[in-house]
Amino acid sequence: MANKKILYDGKAKTIFEGPTPDTVVQYFKDDATANNAEKHSIINGKGVLNNAISDFLMKKINELGIPTHYIKKINMREQLVRKVEIIPVEFVVRNIAAGSIVKRLGLKEGTTFLRPLVEHYLKKDELGDPFINEDHIINFEWGSRDELDEMHEYGLRINDFLRGLFLGIGLKLVDFKIEFGRFYSEDGSSILLLADEISPDNCRLWDTNTNNKMDKDLFRQDIGGLKEAYQEVANRLGILPEKKTYASTKTEIVK
Ligand code: UDP
Repeated sequence: MANKKILYDGKAKTIFEGPTPDTVVQYFKDDATANNAEKHSIINGKGVLNNAISDFLMKKINELGIPTHYIKKINMREQLVRKVEIIPVEFVVRNIAAGSIVKRLGLKEGTTFLRPLVEHYLKKDELGDPFINEDHIINFEWGSRDELDEMHEYGLRINDFLRGLFLGIGLKLVDFKIEFGRFYSEDGSSILLLADEISPDNCRLWDTNTNNKMDKDLFRQDIGGLKEAYQEVANRLGILPEKKTYASTKTEIVK
């Protein structure tokens, strides 16, 4: 992508201009960050794994009838996606208590919620992505009532689907974060599309037998083994971006 214009350089992905005005290219980097980028490392191969995992999950979510920005995977690190105006709200869906909610409400990590819990955070790094509610979103016109209802419904349907999918491969979906964007037609009308990515960078996944963490908490909490865990998630999903055939001299591209 060396000769393509960078539209946005994020923490884990770079967005380049696409081949048409209504598309962009998402490039998955190897950078891992935590605590609002206070902590940073390069984990070789993370971008390739997240690209493969997100490609697989976005396609499945599209098949469910939830519109996404996803068009196609271009290569090991890049996806072609629709160009959207990102809604500056992070939607977090939680099934089990972990992470920030444990601290905020003094919960015991691992407590299963009565029903899935949807939370909203403002996408603003300078403020550390503060917790907000629906009134904030409507008052500050980050999204309309109708958009909020639609995103809420999509979030719960995605949760239902992903929970089942991960359970089938021995993983508990503890929580995840999603983002949406507006895709504009020429007449100025817009539809909501699921955007960004879905990968172990923005999901919490625990092994059903051992409760071992298989997500970015391995980096956040300095446990280690992040790449191996992401590889294991990809393996269990049946995605093998690369299969070493012998010695490490030859690499067979499976997908
Ligand atoms: N998350 C994310 N990006 C963020 C904050 C959270 O992808 O900027 C994901 C995180 O990986 C987890 C879920 O959202 O799956 C809930 O995160 P939480 O609010 O517990 O925050 P954290 O403990 O990660 O700071």
